[in-house]
Amino acid sequence: MNLSSFFHTAVLAITLGFSANIAQAKPLQDYVPVLDNVKANAFQIDHKKGYRVKKVATNVYIITDGIWQSAFITTGKGVILLDAPQSFGQHIIKAVAEITDEPINMLIYSHSHVDHIGGSQQLKNIPNLKILASKPVADFLVEKNDPRRLIPTQTYTGNYVVNMGSETLRLDHHGNYHSTESDVFFYLPKRKFLMVIDSLAPGYVPFRDFDLTHNFHEYLKMFDAILAYDFDVFVGGHLTQIGTAEDVRITQAYVKDVYQTVKRIHTQTNQFDIMGAAAKKIGWDNKFALFNVFLEHIVDKSAKEIEARWIDKLAGVDVWAKSHARTALIYVRWDD
Ligand SMILES: [Zn+2]
Repeated sequence: MNLSSFFHTAVLAITLGFSANIAQAKPLQDYVPVLDNVKANAFQIDHKKGYRVKKVATNVYIITDGIWQSAFITTGKGVILLDAPQSFGQHIIKAVAEITDEPINMLIYSHSHVDHIGGSQQLKNIPNLKILASKPVADFLVEKNDPRRLIPTQTYTGNYVVNMGSETLRLDHHGNYHSTESDVFFYLPKRKFLMVIDSLAPGYVPFRDFDLTHNFHEYLKMFDAILAYDFDVFVGGHLTQIGTAEDVRITQAYVKDVYQTVKRIHTQTNQFDIMGAAAKKIGWDNKFALFNVFLEHIVDKSAKEIEARWIDKLAGVDVWAKSHARTALIYVRWDD
């Protein structure tokens, strides 16, 4: 925008009453560039097409739009589809047809979140489609009655095994590391394929608040649970690549570092020193504000250390380190 058009826009905005928005608009914060190795490993997506199908093991394929990931398995007796993300739901039938003539017989939900299963609405005309979910997920979906998320036709509790044609798929329950209802590990032992949705993103730090976990205690345990499996291919459900056990170990080390850093700094920090210093400026009346100064002091100090140690190892540290420190701090102070 040149100077005269800027003034024109500004005058127009003021005329229209948008002056406050212009005055308050902040420039986008600068972030560090994504790491070179992460860029090099990223799936190339034809954005006009909107998705990519990639074979990751015998009879196993992932579909991705570069942000979300689902998977499907050809069995010789029909296709099993794992999740139907909302973002590329309209492409799923086409994507499967690129690979096989087998019909999609079964859709299995990893958890209840709209972003991972809201594309199921696009599959509603598939004849005799079985939709499988754990009982708590199905109960939640019945209650929500959301047309984007088709209601499961079949439920299970605890662990479950699906046998179809040549393939055996295990649905293993490991506690709620992510969602409130239930989470599941999808495992194909014969294919050494493990899919744990919304757990971690190879190459990157986890998404904010440790992948929105509702239970950081279970989230911490999730890494050993994953590493107990024998797998070559790991799919986390998000972003630009898939991974291996090594990626899981690196992210585990990051998460442990955040937890231990926050714990140490929390232990070493005198709450009333920090609150007292703030009270000199604002007085003691606003207890929420003073307590928040203390909590954010720990968050800032922890995030600074974490960023320095991880900035060249995982992408997105500068984006989410503070949110990770906040999640760890809640656990350290109230649960640990
Ligand atoms: Zn989710």
